[in-house]
Amino acid sequence: MSYREIVKIGDPILNKKSRKVEKFDDKLSRLIDDMKETMYKAEGVGLAAVQVGVLRRVVVMGVGDGFLELVNPEIISCEGEQKEQEGCLSLPGEYDTTVRPAVVKVQAQDRTGKWHIYKGTELKARCFCHEIDHLDGILFTQRVVHEENS
Ligand code: ZN
Repeated sequence: MSYREIVKIGDPILNKKSRKVEKFDDKLSRLIDDMKETMYKAEGVGLAAVQVGVLRRVVVMGVGDGFLELVNPEIISCEGEQKEQEGCLSLPGEYDTTVRPAVVKVQAQDRTGKWHIYKGTELKARCFCHEIDHLDGILFTQRVVHEENS
């Protein structure tokens, strides 16, 4: 495993759409392992492949109950709403409030191509949405809610 440099805001690759993974080979395995190491070293809870400069639909997450690798992830259902602070390893020091679903169900493949279904609430639900957004070139700053004076 090796650390890969994290792409920062200002790099146009972050606005690009990632392509579907078709080959479940050693190269994919290496990418996932490197992303895992990079995410933990950077003390993040999620990382999308585009953030290490690879336009493939691959996400790694480390929220609560352990490590998840998501290949070709898709949100299959959402429920409710939560409003919380969000940040991103590609936008160091920037935090803002976003609206995300309270409960999110995702289907994704693992490195061998096998499909799984995952359910997330709270931080995990936000993380699913945040990382899958990255695969479509969307940053959390595009999900920020600006509240009127209340
Ligand atoms: Zn991010």
